[in-house]
Amino acid sequence: MNLPRRRFDTLVIGAGGGGLRAALQLAEAEANVAVVSKVFPIRSHTVAAQGGMNAALANVSPDSWHWHMYDTVKGSDYLGDQDAIEYMCRAAAHLVIDLEHAGVPFSRLENGKIYQRAFGGQSQNFGGEQAARTCAAADRTGHAILHSLYQQNIKSKTHFFDEFFALDLIKDAEGYILGAVVLEIETGQPWIIEAKCTLLATGGAGRLFRTNTNARINTGDGMAMALRAGIPLQDMEFVQFHPTGIAGKGMLITEGVRGEGGYLVNCEGERFMERYAPHVKDLASRDVVSRAIYTEVKEGRGCGPDGDYVLLKLEHLGANIIKERLPGIRQTVLTFLHFDPIEQPIPVYPTCHYVMGGIPTNRFGQVVAPYNEGAEEAIPGLYAVGECACVSVHGANRLGGNSLLDIVVFGRAAGNHIIEHLEAHRYHRALASESVEQALERLARWERPGDGESVEELRADLQKFMEQNCGVFRNEAVLEEAVHKVTEIEERLQYVRLKDQSKIFNTARLDALELENLVGLAQAVVRCALARQESRGAHYRVDYPERDDIRWLKHSLYFQGQGHVEYKPVRLKPLTVDTFPPKERVY
Ligand SMILES: Cc1cc2nc3c(=O)[nH]c(=O)nc-3n(C[C@H](O)[C@H](O)[C@H](O)COP(=O)(O)OP(=O)(O)OC[C@H]3O[C@@H](n4cnc5c(N)ncnc54)[C@H](O)[C@@H]3O)c2cc1C
Repeated sequence: MNLPRRRFDTLVIGAGGGGLRAALQLAEAEANVAVVSKVFPIRSHTVAAQGGMNAALANVSPDSWHWHMYDTVKGSDYLGDQDAIEYMCRAAAHLVIDLEHAGVPFSRLENGKIYQRAFGGQSQNFGGEQAARTCAAADRTGHAILHSLYQQNIKSKTHFFDEFFALDLIKDAEGYILGAVVLEIETGQPWIIEAKCTLLATGGAGRLFRTNTNARINTGDGMAMALRAGIPLQDMEFVQFHPTGIAGKGMLITEGVRGEGGYLVNCEGERFMERYAPHVKDLASRDVVSRAIYTEVKEGRGCGPDGDYVLLKLEHLGANIIKERLPGIRQTVLTFLHFDPIEQPIPVYPTCHYVMGGIPTNRFGQVVAPYNEGAEEAIPGLYAVGECACVSVHGANRLGGNSLLDIVVFGRAAGNHIIEHLEAHRYHRALASESVEQALERLARWERPGDGESVEELRADLQKFMEQNCGVFRNEAVLEEAVHKVTEIEERLQYVRLKDQSKIFNTARLDALELENLVGLAQAVVRCALARQESRGAHYRVDYPERDDIRWLKHSLYFQGQGHVEYKPVRLKPLTVDTFPPKERVY
């Protein structure tokens, strides 16, 4: 095997907030760390996060990490692991201040403290008055965080492989992960990157659905790589639909708009959220608001010529607030809808936004799976953080502002654990050439000549079926059809051919590799959704409308080869406080 080969202590795959926070922890501890990213790091999708990052700083309203923890457990519809949630909420304030010191230009209050806005699902005193917990840099918080983390990594001498596409993990016969085979996009040259530890931080998979808020690059590559390495994915049926995407297009209008006082109306001008969530109205959690909008439209109270959206009103906030607190939103509306939201309400409809499931990890970022003996055994040499991972702090529904927190908290935690791991594992293990060859074979498959279906056609079909058959409302018949259709697409995938076989910056080849990844994940989503016969968080089954804690308070684990789903218990015991036992979720 005559491939370019590099060795590092740690290989981080993904340069979003999760990957960069972990890499920074490692680089500052003088570990030899490489970050591989298929796009230039500051184009990672963290850059798009608008609304902010949660932490109980209590700068605007009284707050405590324990209230934040309660809201997160309740928001998760009790599927979140309470030890991980406690860990995250306790660390939040400390890590926001860390980011401030790393250079993140948070918006400020009059008294100079970090500005915090209200977001859905936030309360004071365990379900009382609305809290204002989301620390924001206008509506460009992710942008500010990503740029600061990148600059700090450059300062700390992290080694970057920009525009390298990770194909597959390298795994030896004993199950150790030894790095990855990656493709240099500019030249089409495959490389081997060996590492004592590999961390997956490849972000989400919103591109599974036709209408979504995600960038083109969010194709779940890391999750699919894990599946191919024999690791199951956890809770993949839980896909979050954000209530306020631009209707018909999908771009996100942050929940921060409603946090600043914006509200939703139907075609009768009625503030309909008062009927669905009488207490918190427009600031109910995302699954609740998405279902409310969908129901309004379905029952004939939608707006516009086809009655297929509702309106988000913010004109009453006034030009100053909109320009100061929501400049990015204003720009998005000006660019894509060609009017000014200072003057006119925005047409919105639920859009696919976030995948709550992913690669199962513990709170140290170690990937855990039923492997040799135990149900949650750490896979040697493999870590995962961020949206590709499932730790699980978001459970069945993520609260807005908790994901930027998740990536920073668990990015740092994984970095710390890797430092300990490196102390105990001082040498690289022998390279597993068989595993490298498998990855190269998968790549070579796209060089087969001849005519066949196009990647675009197959991807469009997949995204359409996913949207129609596995959306906000689901039932057995449509999910069975979804499994059937995704399996058909998987078969059609073998007949897809690339017209462009060139090596240099061949984006057609990348599209094909990403489609392959999406198809693997679609199987996980539809099979887990079909199996779960209850409604919980973002997974709403019309045929099983109630949450069923007796049968279903458990995590799903989807295994690729066999295509079957297993289950494991939710960790209901926090680290130091009492459990929040499941109760009815009302807002
Ligand atoms: C529009 C939008 C707004 C949001 N707003 C908020 C918010 O206000 N608050 C909040 O808490 N959350 C928000 N979220 C969610 C949050 O932004 C994301 O969940 C989070 O940023 C994900 O970070 P990450 O580090 O896991 O992945 P990403 O930032 O997506 O980074 C993934 C990285 O992996 C790399 N990668 C992927 N595949 C490969 C491969 N095969 N080879 C090499 N590299 C690869 C990419 O190049 C990229 O560098 C928002 C999400 C969206 C879509």
